[in-house]
Order: sequence, then C-alpha cells, then structure tokens
Amino acid sequence: MEYLKEWDKKYVWHPFTQMAEYVKHEPIVIERGEGCWLYDTDGKRYLDAVSSIWCNVHGHNVKELNDALISQINKIAHSTLLGLTNVPAVKLAKKLVDITPEGLNHVFYSDNGSTAMEVALKMAYQYWQLKGEKKRTKFIKLGDAYHGDTIGSVSIGGIDLFHLMYKELMFETFKVPSPFPYRFEGTQEECKDYSLSMMESILKEKGDEIAAVIMEPIVQGAAGIIVHPEGFLKGVRELCDKYGVLLICDEVATGFGKTGKMFACELENVVPDIMAVSKGLTAGYMPLSATLTTDEVYQAFWGGDYGSNKTFFHGHTFTGNPLGCAVALKNIELFEKKNWPESLSSKIEFLHKMLDEEIKELPNVGDIRKKGFMVGIELVKDKRTKEPFSWKEDVGRRISRRIVEKGVFTRPLGPVLVMMPPLAISEEEIELMVKTYKEAILEEFGT
Ligand SMILES: *Cc1c(COP(=O)(O)O)cnc(C)c1O
Repeated sequence: MEYLKEWDKKYVWHPFTQMAEYVKHEPIVIERGEGCWLYDTDGKRYLDAVSSIWCNVHGHNVKELNDALISQINKIAHSTLLGLTNVPAVKLAKKLVDITPEGLNHVFYSDNGSTAMEVALKMAYQYWQLKGEKKRTKFIKLGDAYHGDTIGSVSIGGIDLFHLMYKELMFETFKVPSPFPYRFEGTQEECKDYSLSMMESILKEKGDEIAAVIMEPIVQGAAGIIVHPEGFLKGVRELCDKYGVLLICDEVATGFGKTGKMFACELENVVPDIMAVSKGLTAGYMPLSATLTTDEVYQAFWGGDYGSNKTFFHGHTFTGNPLGCAVALKNIELFEKKNWPESLSSKIEFLHKMLDEEIKELPNVGDIRKKGFMVGIELVKDKRTKEPFSWKEDVGRRISRRIVEKGVFTRPLGPVLVMMPPLAISEEEIELMVKTYKEAILEEFGT
C-alpha cells in the first residue's frame, strides 16, 4: 500500500492544505469505516471525532443506509431534474418540507453547502428584482462568517485568512460583528445587543438597498464554533421583519441534529425566509444539498414563460441526484426510528459534563464553547488575559496531530480544537475522545 501514499503526495492536491507541509508527514489512507471509526490501509483505526468534517450522522458503513443506496442504484443512479423528475427527489422534497420549520414549503436541490448558499443568494436577489425593488441588491453578513468556497459564498464570508486573498473577485457586502461573548467586554445580553444595534444601524441607513441578512443560526462553525448569545437569532429575525428584508439561514453545519435540535432555528422558534442544508442531509454519505424557501419567495417567480425573467436560472447537472436523495430519505427515517434528536439529550449532557470535568481547567484552555455535538476548545497563551495564539503559531494543528497519533481523528480551526462527532457516538467513545484531547493538551503544555 506504500504506493498509495506516494501517489497521494505526488498527484492529489488536498483542500485547505499547504502541500509543502502535508508531504512532510506520512499520509493516512482510509480504506473503510465501521461505526464511528475509520480504518487506514495499515490497519490502524481512528475515532472520527469530527464526523468526517461535520457531516457523518449514524456512523460509517451503516447497513440501512448502504441498503438504501444499493436498492436505488439497482434502479437508476442518476437522471436529471431538467424536464424530468425522479422518485427519491420528490419524496425527499415532501419530507424536508415536513421536518423543517413551518412555512418553508419549496425545495431547490444542489450538490453541496456552497452551491446551496449560491442558490440562496441568487434567489434572494432575484426575488427583489421581481418584486420591483431593484435597489435591493446588497447583503448583510456576520463577522467571521463561513458559507463555502465558491465566489458568491466567499463574498458573504468573513474569515480573512480564507477570504481576503480573493477580495478583488468579491461583491460588496455589509459586515456586522458576530456576537462572540468570550471576546466581548460585557455580559451575554450586552454582547447580543451590541451586534443587533450594529445591524440595525446599517438597516436604518441602507435598509432599502438590502436584499437579505445571511447568517449561520446559533453556532458559527468555521469561525471557531462561536455560540451566539441566547436571543440573537430571534433579534435578527425581528430586525429583518421590521426593515422588510429577507433572512437567509445557513444550516449546512447546524442542521440534522448537530445542535441537539433537528435544526438550530428551532432553538429560538425562528423561521427564515430561505434555509440551506447539506452536510448531515445524507448522513454524510453523498454530496447533496437543498435550499428551502417560503410560498412568498416562490410565488414571486411564478408565471410568464420560459424566456421570462421570472424563471430561476440556476441548476446543476446532478441536481436532485437519486442516490443522494435516497440515502437522505433513509437518514431521516433513521432519525424517526431512533427518536432523534430528542433521545440524544442524555448523551449530549454526558459530553458536556466530561468537557467541564476533564478539559476546562487544563492549562491554556481559554474557552470551551458547546452546543449539542458541536464543540470548540479555544487555546490561549494566557488563561487570565485571554491573550490569543495567532493562526501562524499552529498550536491547534500541533495538538491535533498528537490527537490523531493517539488514534482520534480531528482537525482544528486555527487555535480552536474541534469536536463534532457523529450523533451515533457512544458514551464510551465520548470518554475516549475527551481523554485523548486532554492527554494531548497536557503533553503540549506540560505540567
Ligand atoms: C461546510 C459549510 C459550508 C460549505 O459546504 P460545502 O459542502 O463544503 O461546500 C457552508 N456553510 C457552512 C455553515 C458550512 O459549515
């Protein structure tokens, strides 16, 4: 199997990876999975502590999900939604309308989180054009936002390290500081009110130019698992209503149980005008995403002929792919069968308790942010002053590498260690995961 490692270094260009650094280490070549474990070609196994980058739900190689795919592939692997429809795409659309917040009644498919957000952007933009409010062409985003890597989603992103390089290619947006309590001088309430007031001042001044506010609801994943203060999402919804702009919620990371609710919007009873889902949609099995919207938005596109500007001019070759839709349907069926996410609450409590008991007091652990299965452990130079490590210091990566060497797969966000295990993780595995992070932190900062 050594040739695979050589070929990997030689031919594969890895995402978000400095290849000169990558090739210094021996690649881990994954061959199969079982439950929450990944097995490499050397026979070593790794607990999948970040659910294969936030998407796996029921574990790997799950019989029911495999069978759903096999059964579908024995019928047809792919046909198009351009002029035709297919059985799983129709059934899944109905199912998504049933399980998402009340009022989201129409489903537009694409292939990944970034395209789901591109769809959201174009939908919101064209909606206002069709309504005759042609000046509403701008978007409000949050600081440190992440919505994907295509140019549109990069434009609505706020992480300088990822996004600044492409500045000249991006369209203009308004940025509101994200409410980040750990790095705010004041209470949770004040932190929330500060960001809301910044948003309101933009809406007051430029409201008639704004098409939509875009946000990751409750938890900003790539920003370092920032958990917003309670009431922020609701406050944004109220501002959107007050100033008559659309609210776009990106549930690509938070959807499908990751926050302990099926969708993060449910935590504050908010219904967005447009909502994007992807990562957990297929239980992490296939690339598929969906952008849902309301009757109000959908109706604006209604009427005229194909040539009219009322058609939504967007689509991908694999839009509504039957394999992706079939496994997504089975995923949702398994949620129902297991009574998820309701029955997950004791497991979540266990995880949070372990974190408080084992990690919180460790040296250089500044903040533990957690919502459901989404956990960020921010490492700082000085616990008392909260002096941060910079991305360049690579502390997150060094410790994460130790964790991987110990048999737990993880990937950090700068100085923030991440845990986001599959929902199917057991308490024993949670304990192993937390203790492995603890060992690695202690080794790095030695006491
Ligand atoms: C991962 C992610 C995306 C991008 O999804 P891709 O499938 O990687 O294109 C968008 N938004 C959020 C919140 C994400 O976490």
